[in-house]
Amino acid sequence: MENIVCNGCSLLCDDVSAEISSKGVNSLGLCKLGHTHLETVTAHKIVATQKKLEKAADLLMNTTNLLLFGWTHATDEAIREGLELAATLKGHFGSNVNLGPMQAMSHTIHAEGLDIDLEYVRNNGEFIIYWGTDPSESLHRHPSRFAVLPRGEKIPEGIESRTIGVVDVRQTETMKMANHRLIIPIGSDVELLNTVISELEGKSVIKDKILGIPGIELVGFVRNLQKADCIIIFYGSGVLNSGNQDTNLTGMVKLIETLRATGKKAYALPMFVQSNTMGVIKATHDHEIVGELLHRISSGEFDTTLVVGDDVLAHLPGSVAKALAKTQILYVGPPGGLTDKRATVSVHTSDAIIAGTGTMIRVDMKEIEFKKWRASVATEKHSEVLMKLHKLVRTKRT
Ligand code: SF4
Repeated sequence: MENIVCNGCSLLCDDVSAEISSKGVNSLGLCKLGHTHLETVTAHKIVATQKKLEKAADLLMNTTNLLLFGWTHATDEAIREGLELAATLKGHFGSNVNLGPMQAMSHTIHAEGLDIDLEYVRNNGEFIIYWGTDPSESLHRHPSRFAVLPRGEKIPEGIESRTIGVVDVRQTETMKMANHRLIIPIGSDVELLNTVISELEGKSVIKDKILGIPGIELVGFVRNLQKADCIIIFYGSGVLNSGNQDTNLTGMVKLIETLRATGKKAYALPMFVQSNTMGVIKATHDHEIVGELLHRISSGEFDTTLVVGDDVLAHLPGSVAKALAKTQILYVGPPGGLTDKRATVSVHTSDAIIAGTGTMIRVDMKEIEFKKWRASVATEKHSEVLMKLHKLVRTKRT
């Protein structure tokens, strides 16, 4: 077995290993999601030809309104190369990172940046709250590697030393390991936040049931918050996609401030899922992003789209996908999927887990470097293909 880095989700686990033999794929430490991802990309047959690159370069030279799109599964190096190619071709660099994560990262909840990382959570996180997120569905190893099970410097007994709360609109798998399970009606996050804040401020507002939660349960939740020294809130799509994103995040900021006012350490961290969401956010912070862009795609503004890394046609909202499919598509990425099938030219590349080079940004903004392993020999990388494409475009221009 060799050490590898998994990019099955934004946790980018770098404590895992794998081997590929004629008998199949073996792995150690990978979760089910990661193992399936590795098996899928191992089966890809990649044949990148110079001819295809030439054709792609010719098409790029003849566009009038080019969109460079995708990127959430591309490495930081590929994103940088894409930004440079966009500048050369005067194309528009855009990403399909959801509007939610983009806005969340600009909210005051992260005004001072993400000042803690997941290692800090492992060592100090005493009261962990998963709010509108179910890691058992998307970031499988989040609880076992960082937030719930492991021992840490100030968490000598692991799960026994932590209190776990889950807030969601339905029963979730993660709730099974929680001390507090708060199921609330859709869109009532702020009401719950305000109730908790008032109770922390000593206003004793909880008498009977609130939002369907028995008063005694909610008071128990607040009392445990009061007992903890370090509280971490992990917020996810339930908070971001409810239509009240801004109000919800502002409510969380208030809760954090209330806890900090009593001398506690309190933080909020996001639970974005796509492997390099943070890499895209970091690289494109100054660029015009998503909401507006989806509208521009729908209105037929672009005649050609260079899609890198993502099967965007499978994941965009229907009307936007339809409009995008009407453009001439050049696809650079792993084989398979709707976008690859629909593309005028496809240049296939290896997934980063196989290629084993470059970096991505973990969900807590920590840079993770991929590890070369035996499977990495003779692979086609996103960044190299884009570099070759860029070179061809430059040569053809002169
Ligand atoms: S948690 Fe994510 S990065 Fe870690 S092994 Fe599972 S899929 Fe891979």
